[in-house]
Amino acid sequence: MEGVIIGIESTAHTFSFGSVSTNGVLFPSQSSLFRPEEGGIHPREAADHHSDVTSELLNRVSNAEYFSWDSVVAIAFSQGPGLGPCLRVGASVARTLSTSLQVPLIGVNHCIAHIEVGRNQTGCDDPVLLYVSGGNTQVIARADGKYRVLGETLDIGIGNMLDKFARHNGIAFPGGPEVERLANNFTSEGWKSLDSVLLPYGVHGMDMAFSGILTSAIQRISDGHSLEEVCWSLQEHSFASCVEVAERALAHTGKNELLLGGGVACNERLREMSTIMCEERGSSCHWPEKQYCIDNGTMIAELGRRMLEAGISTELLDSAINPGLRTDNTSVIWH
Ligand code: AMP
Ligand code: MG
Repeated sequence: MEGVIIGIESTAHTFSFGSVSTNGVLFPSQSSLFRPEEGGIHPREAADHHSDVTSELLNRVSNAEYFSWDSVVAIAFSQGPGLGPCLRVGASVARTLSTSLQVPLIGVNHCIAHIEVGRNQTGCDDPVLLYVSGGNTQVIARADGKYRVLGETLDIGIGNMLDKFARHNGIAFPGGPEVERLANNFTSEGWKSLDSVLLPYGVHGMDMAFSGILTSAIQRISDGHSLEEVCWSLQEHSFASCVEVAERALAHTGKNELLLGGGVACNERLREMSTIMCEERGSSCHWPEKQYCIDNGTMIAELGRRMLEAGISTELLDSAINPGLRTDNTSVIWH
């Protein structure tokens, strides 16, 4: 019988269980998103949310038509990077399931899971990844047995920046989709000039920065610019900085596939800008379905599957969470 790997995601706002068959067929995740009543995400409150929804999510997993506990061959979980209290909930559930089902435990690197689920879904082989999520913004490529970080944000993640701007303007978390909707409203009647609402453009070598643009965008609202106009300008400037770094990464590595990942990769304008850049240089541009861009358990299962195939699993003693795990800390020995 074909086996199934379960993946557990709990790095931040989302608690999620997903699965993948041993031959690589992805099954949709069962997820619950923590939405703070006010302010940003408090790690302890998010962790309490994760604990509270565990049994409901597990019931939903058990009841899925395609699922049977007998077919589970391994439990993968996000070992890092992320918020300590949140990671701990996912790791505890993973250890419990692995011990009670007597199947291997696999601690995975969350950032790399975004790459592997994208490779599974799009068929691209050796991409440069533009990883744009709430807490992370990195441009990554594989070289010499590691996924190397070629450039990254020097301060906050691009999704965090969009969420904070949105929150300042009374929009609930997650703010990114609403910023996109408002920006689309602004350009619905044709292209406008950016001249009247310029914002700082934060590219430093191969790195990016988003806190300055956030402060300026908030200031533009105080100056009397419309929310729709500033949302549009914010997207144009911040996405352009990511696409610029991604383009340089393609040029330096000689690779010719760009893969988008992370929640901000749901954004149609970012996809469009990335596609234009890739077409202009004869490269291809890819992204997974939206359900696999945002944090999800299925991507954790997919990386677990590749690691299991390569003979990697995690002993209980080595299964402590690692909130500061870096993309380039993990040896990549699978294809
Ligand atoms: P992740 O941390 O990968 O789960 O992604 C969550 C982040 O993605 C949040 O900061 C969201 O605001 C952001 N996000 C989700 N959808 C969109 C969108 N359509 N446009 C921009 N940002 C988005
Ligand atoms: Mg993520």
